[in-house]
Amino acid sequence: MLITHSFTHQEVLGLKFGYQTIGRPRLFSHLYFVDGLLIDTGHSRVRHHVQSASEGLGIEQILITHHHEDHTGNLRALKARHQCPVYASPLCCQIMHSPPPLSLAQQITWGNRPPQRDLIPKVERIETHRFTFDLIPIPGHAPDMVALYEPNRRWLFSADLYINSYIDYFLADESMAEQIASTKRILELDFDVMFCGHKPQLSNAKRQLTKKLHFLEAFFQDVATLHQRGCSDREIFRRLSLKENWFVRLLSGGKLSKFNMVKSVIRDVENNLP
Ligand SMILES: [Zn+2]
Repeated sequence: MLITHSFTHQEVLGLKFGYQTIGRPRLFSHLYFVDGLLIDTGHSRVRHHVQSASEGLGIEQILITHHHEDHTGNLRALKARHQCPVYASPLCCQIMHSPPPLSLAQQITWGNRPPQRDLIPKVERIETHRFTFDLIPIPGHAPDMVALYEPNRRWLFSADLYINSYIDYFLADESMAEQIASTKRILELDFDVMFCGHKPQLSNAKRQLTKKLHFLEAFFQDVATLHQRGCSDREIFRRLSLKENWFVRLLSGGKLSKFNMVKSVIRDVENNLP
């Protein structure tokens, strides 16, 4: 099933796309367009719809928040159609030269994305005719991820920092300690609206992100405590009565799981992060 929807909030246009092979989509992707700038490109399963929604907008530049396939899936198509520069963090540009392979679950849900070698590295800020967005590194979910912050309008484009106030699974390379540090840094900013890559928060944005922070901190603390007492990852999982989403875990060949959240904390503790 495919669901598409668009909305405007102040000068920002939000484009929402949901796709699920069987049944109703559970996770939606959002692209944002503001003053000639397109933020992210969505996943390739909805390419046709992204392309038609982007017609006539007047896209002058594109910024990619991080390399994940649900943000970069239509990058090549949109760049070719709109003949515009595409910017990303220096690390994202590097990763996109040869993006990591996707699990079956990711390919089914989002489709694949080709390598892209002509992204332009951007740091500190990106400007449009009327707005200046600070680019803030927010590693953790992905090492190359950035947020865009417009201090005068109090807009935060938070990429995948939020997603939800709790989270059920991690990719194998996510760092919970870095997510906590990035979230704390972002919460110091003055923003009213959070244009999240999956679940925009047009009101109570700070409260929602604070809830997420508390969830991550509590999870981290619980796992770290048991790890320091000598419990193994499996024992910790059992003792905290965590429930695995086996459908996602098996389909992804273990790349996406709740168990990864436990392993992430143990790795972070052992590496003394942050
Ligand atoms: Zn992501």
